[in-house]
Amino acid sequence: MLLVTTIAAVRARREELARLGRRLAFVPTMGALHEGHLSLVRLAGEHADEVWASVFVNPAQFGAGEDLDRYPRDLERDRELLAGAGAVLLFAPGVKEIYPQPPATVVDTPGLAAGLCGAHRPGHFGGVALVVAKLFNIVQPHVAVFGAKDAQQAAVIRRMAADLNFPVEIVVAPTAREADGLAMSSRNTYLSAEERRAATVLHRALQSARAAALSGERRGPALEGLLAATVGGEPLARLQYAAAVDPTTLRPVPAVKGRVLLALAVHLGGTRLIDNLLVEGLE
Ligand code: AMP
Repeated sequence: MLLVTTIAAVRARREELARLGRRLAFVPTMGALHEGHLSLVRLAGEHADEVWASVFVNPAQFGAGEDLDRYPRDLERDRELLAGAGAVLLFAPGVKEIYPQPPATVVDTPGLAAGLCGAHRPGHFGGVALVVAKLFNIVQPHVAVFGAKDAQQAAVIRRMAADLNFPVEIVVAPTAREADGLAMSSRNTYLSAEERRAATVLHRALQSARAAALSGERRGPALEGLLAATVGGEPLARLQYAAAVDPTTLRPVPAVKGRVLLALAVHLGGTRLIDNLLVEGLE
């Protein structure tokens, strides 16, 4: 697998690919890869002739006091894992390559970024949308794959790509989970053994709210109350938000019709974890 650190080198490879008429799928990541990322790479391979990935810990999406400095980094390991999953090129630029000067341009989706994580991480989704727009322009993929684990991020990127006419198909891959249901995340490595055990509360809360929805509970606030109650039963967990929203608009749904996205953010010690579940077929 080719490791590339400059935009110029990506563009040169991209031109070659265009000459060969090959279809390109792209998986952007922040590294510290786990099986969830690799499932995206494998799915990407089903949509294209070639898969490229990126590893870039994007400063623009971290707020003051967040974990930018301690975010786990291990490029050599990431490189091996990506090659094993079938990626043929890894773009791993430095910060100066992506941000040679502070950007004067804003890429944002205020309506989609206002609630859920956006309410607690001001500027986060603007930073995500900006770097993904830049990566799309650099890599020019036909297909880009994102994880359902970050449902708000996927909604923001889908809309950004549609609004700005990026010629890219956005594919959203299912959330990869540990055997006990915990959604895989690079941030799980921050958890102590006790916190790791307690972390299953996110999945348990989502499952029990889903069961309630499937057995007839259609009131959004009641579903949110159920999520919060389950999290409240875990002494190590501190709820940041529990939400029942429309999966496209991300607006709260007073009365569920058809489908609902259940979403949670929870602190365990100093670690913030998110998870969500899309419940469909609710007539
Ligand atoms: P990150 O490195 O956390 O920025 O994630 C890179 C991509 O991997 C994003 O599209 C995430 O949504 C996706 N991802 C992260 N964790 C998972 C998971 N457990 N299952 C599926 N996709 C994931």
